[in-house]
Parts: sequence; structure tokens; C-alpha cells
Amino acid sequence: MSDEGAAVVAAVQAVAERLEAERTHLTDLDSAIGDADHGGNMARGWKAAAEEVAALDDPDPATVVKTAGKKLLSEVGGASGPLYGGSLVFASPELEDGITAETAVAFAETYLEKVQDRGDARVGDKTMVDALVPAVHTFKKSVETDDLPPVEALAKAVAAAERGVDFTVPIRASKGRASYLGWRSVGHQDPGATSTLYILEELLAAAEE
Ligand code: ADP
Ligand code: MG
Ligand code: MG
Repeated sequence: MSDEGAAVVAAVQAVAERLEAERTHLTDLDSAIGDADHGGNMARGWKAAAEEVAALDDPDPATVVKTAGKKLLSEVGGASGPLYGGSLVFASPELEDGITAETAVAFAETYLEKVQDRGDARVGDKTMVDALVPAVHTFKKSVETDDLPPVEALAKAVAAAERGVDFTVPIRASKGRASYLGWRSVGHQDPGATSTLYILEELLAAAEE
């Protein structure tokens, strides 16, 4: 297996394990402002994705990401399956030439673009976009303007996502199920922003290895 392909398979596995460990926490968050399935959706979907990519024969990074995304799409319904899965599939060609600082930025931007095309959420709507937008913008700026090595740029992106997750607590949801609650969504942390942070933390841990 190519080193990069194997590294991405390992990263998908690490994400799956983390989301299994956070299953109850994510479901608790979703029970407060949604339908109490986000932990199960993420844990089940990423487990299936990890099994699928582990069975690939000598895959490159783009194929691993596309395969994981397709599996998420088929395993997870609701809002998060298409948003995570569809966006991974759509952005996967950005990694066809391998993983460099430049292709990683392109991948992150294309992924974000697809999440926003599909879900039509903006920063402040109390969704995964509140973690993703600051993470992607910080990653891009850290690589392109500040000239940081990719792993350091990713660490900055994780910190930005963390602040984005905190920002979801005091605001009112305007997209997704939580928006049905109106002002009663205030004071609760968004589940999808939280799972996005966990995924980014695992990507950082994988990149540090
Ligand atoms: P469902 O709400 O269908 O049960 P999940 O519980 O798995 O799906 O995922 C809920 C998460 O999906 C929310 O916490 C939010 O972050 C995200 N989400 C919902 N709608 C949108 C949207 N339109 N754009 C971006 N993210 C969204
Ligand atoms: Mg839900
Ligand atoms: Mg649901």
C-alpha cells in the first residue's frame, strides 16, 4: 500500500474509534436540541467506513477518502450523512496528486464549499459550519500567508474549530432540526460542530505521527 494511502486508512480508523468513544456524549448533545441520534450516526457510519477502506487493495489517498465518504452516504441518513459523506466524495479528487500543504488546503476548501452548497448554512446558524469555517480559513491562512508547516497549520485549525464549537453554545439555531426549537436552542452546544472538532483532532493526531 502507498504510505500516504495507508496513513489515510489509519486516520479513518482513528476517527472511527474516537467517534465510538464519543457516541454517548454526541447523542446527549443531540438529545438536547435534536433527535438523539448523532452519536449513533457518527459511530456507526465511521465504523463502516473504516472497515470498507481497510479492505481496499493498495489505495491512494483520494480513493480512501472517496470510499469512506460513499460508505457514510449509504450508512447514515439525516442531515449529517449527506453533509459529511457527500462532501468527502466531492472533495476527494483534490488529493489525487497526493497530500501536500497545497492539496490539503484545496481539499479543505472544496469540502467546506460542498457542505455549504448542500446545507446552505452560514456561520452563526449553529451547525458544523461554525467549526468548519474558522478551521478551514485558519488552515489556509496558516499555510499560505504565515508559511507554517502543515501540521502546525492543522493545530491552529483545530484551535479555531474549538472556538467555533464554543461559539455554538450561546447562539440560536437557524438550520437543521435544532432550528425547530427557536430560542430554546440557546445554551446548547451543536452536535455536528462537536463531531467536526473530534474528526479534526484525530486528523491532527494522525498527521503528528
Ligand atoms: P439529524 O439532524 O438529521 O438527526 P444528525 O443528528 O446526525 O442528523 O446531525 C445533526 C447535525 O447536523 C447538527 O448538529 C448540525 O451540526 C448539522 N446540520 C444540520 N443541518 C445542517 C445544515 N443545513 N448545514 C450544516 N450542518 C447541518
Ligand atoms: Mg440527530
Ligand atoms: Mg436524525
